[in-house]
Amino acid sequence: MKRILSPVMIVIAIAGMSCMPYTGKPRRETAVRVAIECGVDQVRLSGTRGKKYYSDYLVTLNESFPFHFGPNDGRVSINGRDYRGSVEVRKVDGRLWVINVLDIESYLKGVVPCEIGGVSERQFEAAKAQAVAARTYARAHMGQYSDLGFDLYSTVQDQVYKGISCERAITSRAVASTAGEVLVYNNVPIEAKYHSTCGGRTADFGDAWAGSPPPYLRSVVCRYCEKSPHYHWHKVMTRNEFFAHLRSRLKKIGICLTEHELIHSFRLRRSERSNRLKELILVTNKTEYKVANYRIRTLFGEPTDPGGLLKSTYVYIRTEGDRVIIEGRGFGHGVGMCQFGALEMAAQGKDYRYILYHYYRGTRVKRFR
Ligand SMILES: [Zn+2]
Repeated sequence: MKRILSPVMIVIAIAGMSCMPYTGKPRRETAVRVAIECGVDQVRLSGTRGKKYYSDYLVTLNESFPFHFGPNDGRVSINGRDYRGSVEVRKVDGRLWVINVLDIESYLKGVVPCEIGGVSERQFEAAKAQAVAARTYARAHMGQYSDLGFDLYSTVQDQVYKGISCERAITSRAVASTAGEVLVYNNVPIEAKYHSTCGGRTADFGDAWAGSPPPYLRSVVCRYCEKSPHYHWHKVMTRNEFFAHLRSRLKKIGICLTEHELIHSFRLRRSERSNRLKELILVTNKTEYKVANYRIRTLFGEPTDPGGLLKSTYVYIRTEGDRVIIEGRGFGHGVGMCQFGALEMAAQGKDYRYILYHYYRGTRVKRFR
């Protein structure tokens, strides 16, 4: 993803919505299995099988599975896109799952540029911080889809990975110069959440997700992301549009209004520490509904979420007559490393460990081999 339009933000944005399983237990091996195509009927591959090279091999449901395809000149091609490592095609519930199997360092070369976007030399330390965060995420999520035969999706559901086509020299150098380095807390790889722009203060874990909050994912001040195009934003809607949006999404958090139940007004309360919305009271002609914490984020949705409304829950919402005016800050769930902040910190001379320790308090970098 391009940083301006989406980067990680998005990753995180949506990954955040579903909150992928965190295993926190690194496997000893360093091979990672990444789902490139999910539930398809056919796939075109190029590479080697046995000792023979195939430039355009069509794998259909009639093949015998699992089907393996090896690299030729260090690469395989899946539907015309080049990847390092090998390919394994599995048949699950009558559909094909196409999995790229490669070592984690090669995988990261195809992740870091997709997640942090363009990086200049003076921002190199931010690319290194992103490499460590992405490696940590991958390590901590290995085995999460073992029933389907892979570790990670190649999309915002986990981390965006586009193979060789996405690689850039500077980000590959950032991966190499931090090879094997992972962020740990109590010697366990952390849940390394990251996002585009925090808006001046990162969020607490509980602002975005359910579950017990890791101690290192607490809201911290960030004075570095003011140059982000998402630092300040605003949105104006009519009351009817605003209430219609809420009505259409209430079922996502388990609230079903009856046919004649109308939303009349709302009240908001925010977290004193993170400034994110903490509580939303919706008043209808029949009753009141209280929506709290991460459910508010699900209710409003993010721009990357179909039907989503807000870039973040760091918002101030007021009504003026028939209008609802939303003043917002940041983009993404706001938890963990702020990417625009990391880029600016690097430009100001901070090194990657300083950046990481700022956003993930109490952690340390450890090299896993
Ligand atoms: Zn920030």
